[in-house]
Amino acid sequence: MTDRICTFKKASGERCGSPPLRDGDFCLWHDPQHADEVTEARKIGGSRRKRERTVAVAYDFEGLTSTDSIRRLIEIAVVDTLSLDNSVNRNRTLAYLAQSAIKLLGQGEHTRIASRHCNQALKPRLVAGGRR
Ligand SMILES: [Zn+2]
Repeated sequence: MTDRICTFKKASGERCGSPPLRDGDFCLWHDPQHADEVTEARKIGGSRRKRERTVAVAYDFEGLTSTDSIRRLIEIAVVDTLSLDNSVNRNRTLAYLAQSAIKLLGQGEHTRIASRHCNQALKPRLVAGGRR
């Protein structure tokens, strides 16, 4: 039963390959009876991505792929949290954000020290050789 696949054929002639709906020959994306839902889902997906880009630009946020952009996310959260009324929860959140920032800074420091050590690992021999 699990080897049933959607009977939709792509422009290349290849079969879709997705599992079909329980009561049909097509998957959700290719079933003509669900065409309206699929169109609606695509529209929602499109406007969601657009909103995501707008918010990312407004906050100058570039994703979670670099320590700089993660730092930016923490900054945004700190500023937003600071603007809330004083409460135990606000202070807990700020403490948590501060810990996250310390970890992030520590990691940056590690990377910096590690690369300095790598450079120094080569230098002492040259310096020591020069002194003798
Ligand atoms: Zn399909």
